[in-house]
Amino acid sequence: MSHELDIIPGTEWGFFTLPRPMCIAGPCSAESEEQVMETAAGLNAFGIHVYRAGIWKPRTHPGSFEGVGTPGLKWLKKVKEVYGMKVCTEVASEKHVLECIKYGVDIIWIGARTSANPFLMQEVANALEGTDIPVLVKNPVNPDIDLWIGALERLNKAGLKKLGVIHRGFSTSAPILYRNDPGWRMAIEMRTRYPQLTFFADPSHMAGDRRYLLELSQRAMDLGLDGLMVESHCRPDQALSDAKQQLTPAALQDLLESLVIRENTSENQAYKEGIDALRAQIDVIDDNLLKSLADRMEISRKIGLYKKEHNVAILQAGRWDNVLEGVKERARSLGLSEEFAEAVFNAIHDESVRRQNEVLEGRR
Ligand code: PEP
Ligand code: MN
Repeated sequence: MSHELDIIPGTEWGFFTLPRPMCIAGPCSAESEEQVMETAAGLNAFGIHVYRAGIWKPRTHPGSFEGVGTPGLKWLKKVKEVYGMKVCTEVASEKHVLECIKYGVDIIWIGARTSANPFLMQEVANALEGTDIPVLVKNPVNPDIDLWIGALERLNKAGLKKLGVIHRGFSTSAPILYRNDPGWRMAIEMRTRYPQLTFFADPSHMAGDRRYLLELSQRAMDLGLDGLMVESHCRPDQALSDAKQQLTPAALQDLLESLVIRENTSENQAYKEGIDALRAQIDVIDDNLLKSLADRMEISRKIGLYKKEHNVAILQAGRWDNVLEGVKERARSLGLSEEFAEAVFNAIHDESVRRQNEVLEGRR
């Protein structure tokens, strides 16, 4: 079933100026009037026009800093008045929405824990009905594209057309470099299905550490996404939430200046941009292939252990012949040549046998 969305593109909201990236920046949380104003001054000074700050914070543990609540909205109002910036914050309930409307918040975003919850999404959508506030929906914490689309549909059915998305990666129990698994495949899928949706990446929550912000931001640009939402704090190390991943405004300026952005100003440039986006997709797939191979080899090691415990020989020719037949048939149905599939899988099998031998000989 196709789920149509009736969308007004971000370039028509009157907030964002091209060229890419459209940028939203500001602290994870509003903490005090001084911190909000000082950070806004730093960002405004180099042309950031859309300011973010969390007012109500969804924290894992109770007792962590859960945001300053409504008083923070007065500080955001002051940011608008003093710097002429647009302001945005996260909402997760009817009460949040009503407070935002009251204080003139320009854009709202839905957090990853909320977009995963249809009850809350419906509550927020109902509360927004009759307004035309732009809403940016973060991907749900779990990699479920339908849940993400469903959240957008609920808003769209409530009459909201200024909709965009923010890709912030997914929770994972796997040991990875980043706080969240970037899972770019889903961003590509979403982009392909809904090219009209304004598409941000949030490298801050993906990375969890400011060291990885540049590489993730560059990847987002290479995939052709429209914008970045980045956490920036005047004194990152003293931040009350997400201290490790925040950047000073000056460091954010450096980051933005180091990004290589390819715009399609000529035929040739368009080609280059297209090929870069495709190559970035290939990089993501290769990365996934390597991860799958590593997972497979880990299972080979376990099989080796298991065979050793039960005193069974490693090579069981009949089994591999069966596997290979199945692989070739599946390859054919996917439009791949049998010879290619056979070569790849024989190489995988050889390595797997080598791993199992290492286990048998006590080397692993
Ligand atoms: C945030 O943007 O501060 C936030 C809580 O993000 P997420 O919902 O992506 O975890
Ligand atoms: Mn944060």
